[in-house]
Amino acid sequence: MASVMNQPAKSPVAISATKLLINNRWINSASGKTFATVNPSTGEEICQVAEADAPDVEQAVRAARAAFDRGPWRKTMASERGRLLNKLADLIEKHADELAALEALDNGKPLAVAKAVDVAATVGCFRYFAGWADKVHGKTIPIDGDFFCYTRMEPVGVVGQIIPWNFPMLMAAWKLAPALATGNTVVMKPAEQTPLSALRIGELIVEAGFPEGVVNLLPGYGPTAGAAIANHMDVDKVAFTGSTEVGHLIMEAAAKSNLKRVTLELGGKSPNIVFADTDIDEAVEGAHFGLFFNHGQCCCAGSRVFVEEKIYDKFVEKSGARAKRRTVGDPFDPKTDQGPQVDSAQFDKVMGYIDSGRTQGAKLVCGGDRVGERGYFIQPTVFADVKDDMKIAQEEIFGPVMSIIPFKSADEVVDRANNTTYGLAAAVWTRDISKAHSIANSVRAGTVWVNCYNVLDTRAPFGGFKQSGIGRELGEYGLQQYTEIKTVTVKL
Ligand code: ADP
Repeated sequence: MASVMNQPAKSPVAISATKLLINNRWINSASGKTFATVNPSTGEEICQVAEADAPDVEQAVRAARAAFDRGPWRKTMASERGRLLNKLADLIEKHADELAALEALDNGKPLAVAKAVDVAATVGCFRYFAGWADKVHGKTIPIDGDFFCYTRMEPVGVVGQIIPWNFPMLMAAWKLAPALATGNTVVMKPAEQTPLSALRIGELIVEAGFPEGVVNLLPGYGPTAGAAIANHMDVDKVAFTGSTEVGHLIMEAAAKSNLKRVTLELGGKSPNIVFADTDIDEAVEGAHFGLFFNHGQCCCAGSRVFVEEKIYDKFVEKSGARAKRRTVGDPFDPKTDQGPQVDSAQFDKVMGYIDSGRTQGAKLVCGGDRVGERGYFIQPTVFADVKDDMKIAQEEIFGPVMSIIPFKSADEVVDRANNTTYGLAAAVWTRDISKAHSIANSVRAGTVWVNCYNVLDTRAPFGGFKQSGIGRELGEYGLQQYTEIKTVTVKL
């Protein structure tokens, strides 16, 4: 058990892990510094967490390196890696209520959503990649001459993983599960806003029996601990999820240090295209879910809703009415659909975008203000008559702000949908199957949904075109990002 730094007086859940995990031991940071993680529902400190910086990264990378080069992990059978991952999944499932409560407390998402989505998908992700552990293998290749040639899929080595705050536990799972299934060791930095669930998972990793040094967890800030990981000469790969801006910094650090492999899952400004021949109520509901799920804090949020002129007015009216029915409040209240934004910086940023929508002349259909005086709650906000060049149609808002934009024809809307530096996701709503496939083929995005939104599954790859990222996570494609291919040629 990790020792506790301080226990909040009235926490809805016990907090046991608040330190750094290096070599299966819970330790203070070298500097002794700590930082506060804040409850976004109140703005008050939940507890202090050890703050990692470069010397701690150094120590964690050494531990991960030793575990990779010389530790028992190197010799752990592939089937045993799968067994450990399954055991971890079982432990997470056993502690589902507690983990969901940690997520609701630290991130602000509704408890029921945390349990049904975040915890369930985390368990599913570990189980899925557990199954892959002993199924990753090479080929024999009939090269010219009298040789026996085969390939091996080997782990990349020490992997740095830097994750965001919007799905704190699930993003840890997306990164840890494929890395461990393929035999890598990990140095992970959770987001400074939401370190608690990843640290609790760290305790379960130790309990499951992973050897020391295989998973090291370093809560801390991006420009210090995160940058030290990205710049480290002995980190073989860095996997990052976060803003496009920081994605550039990660690649730059990799280029300037040791050409470590880089996978990036970055921002988006995803188009959600609604044709007049669709079932309008289904499309309104789908667009609502596509934007407001997780308080708009999804990299794939459908934040540009293009609606064909013929149904535009009706769609705007129905979307406004739907957004007004969304219940904003305490994440621990079962009636709540939407909790607070994650922190004051995000709150201010989102409110700034709402102001810019107003001043640039978009029509405010509903919302636009904060909810209550305490915490970071924002009304579900819908803007209509949004123009392609307005800030709210161009930049990632990462909050509960929907922009509805009219269009006339399929050709025109594809060009406008693609007129962005991003390319993470897109959706199309229509009953016309050929139109659906034609749009799916033409939109430059890593995922396209037809008559649905936010359907993410651990078996299907996810990632971005253009500045939405490099590489794919999840599914078989996600595994490939954690292996190096070795060619072995034997003279016969
Ligand atoms: P957001 O703006 O949504 O918080 P960021 O891209 O800033 O997204 O953060 C995502 C993750 O990247 C967090 O874990 C954060 O600490 C980390 N991070 C931020 N800046 C850097 C940096 N310069 N180098 C490495 N990691 C960073």
